[in-house]
Amino acid sequence: MTRKAPAVHRKSFQTKFNQTPQEFHAKYAFSPTAKCTACNCKPHIRAIIMWPLDEAEKRGLIPEGSAKMPLLFPAIAPVLVPIKGSGPNPDFYIRTSMAYSCKQCKKRLFSTLAKAPSWCIVEINEGPDPTNRVQVGLN
Ligand SMILES: [Zn+2]
Repeated sequence: MTRKAPAVHRKSFQTKFNQTPQEFHAKYAFSPTAKCTACNCKPHIRAIIMWPLDEAEKRGLIPEGSAKMPLLFPAIAPVLVPIKGSGPNPDFYIRTSMAYSCKQCKKRLFSTLAKAPSWCIVEINEGPDPTNRVQVGLN
């Protein structure tokens, strides 16, 4: 006999602490010292901009020759991000900048991100979408 785990619905998520998934994400997802880049309040969104290695080498961001063999250069290891492409091996990118934003400054952040060059990758962490249904423990 198998027992089904109880479903956790969005409305009863974290009822002990009286939090929605969005509030939980805003509280625990980012560093406690992170602040909105524009108004210095508590952030809800994080954006990370990543450059491909060849563009970073062309602009002198990383040492010459490191675009071909990035793993041989320990100096760039902390900002190296492997991103899975269509091939068997991941493509490496350089994390160049990170910005936090609150809900009020979201539009301003997105208009700034839209001005980034087309070859950049922008990772936006907004947390769970409030229109999505969250169910945990269903088979
Ligand atoms: Zn703000």
